[in-house]
Amino acid sequence: MPPLDRRFALKAAAALAATASTAGVAAATCAVQTAASQAAMTPAAALQRLQDGNARFVAGQPEHCDLLEQVRQTAGGQAPFAAVLGCIDSRVPPELLFDQRIGDIFAARIAGNFVDDDMLGSLEFATHVAGAKLIVVLGHSECGAIKGAIDGVKLGHLTGLLAKIRPALGALKYQGVASSKNAELVQRVAERNVQDGVARLARAPVLAKLVQAERLKIVGAMHDLGTGRLTWTT
Ligand SMILES: [Zn+2]
Repeated sequence: MPPLDRRFALKAAAALAATASTAGVAAATCAVQTAASQAAMTPAAALQRLQDGNARFVAGQPEHCDLLEQVRQTAGGQAPFAAVLGCIDSRVPPELLFDQRIGDIFAARIAGNFVDDDMLGSLEFATHVAGAKLIVVLGHSECGAIKGAIDGVKLGHLTGLLAKIRPALGALKYQGVASSKNAELVQRVAERNVQDGVARLARAPVLAKLVQAERLKIVGAMHDLGTGRLTWTT
């Protein structure tokens, strides 16, 4: 082979190998969760998978999987490896932030991402019944529900919902009158609310038993609306 052709051939082979290895990563990431893959995953590995997904999201390099194919492959059953309790805020969609797709995670969402009996029941189902290995309580910066709770907003059924977030404010020491104009206080209450959620879940007997058996990990995280990055709080 003439030298030029040879160089071209080597380059082409290298490019092909690189493409194949990228495709290999994508294939692994796009593979749907099965009972076997879920059973093989440890709580620590589940956490790592979400952290890796957020790293791809923040780098602007999410995997582009065939979602319709995933729909077909999960039609007969689901085996998600994690559950996320997050806010309804349109800027904090768990599947996108963690770069996950069909059948990967349970997503429980409520304004202010607090834990009440029904959320707890949902997460007991996600873990004890359906086998998820990780629960993430996901708060975020600039949360409207947290601001409403601080300001004591009263409106229809929102009044009762915000009352469930108020204990996070009551647990903090701060100076002056509580106001959502105090950005530092808003962030502190959101963080405290996540901590309280994690603590409440950890106290629930059904979940505590799973944690003790090392079949479940419960962690908190705060999402930064400005960057898409997560700070893991526990
Ligand atoms: Zn929110």
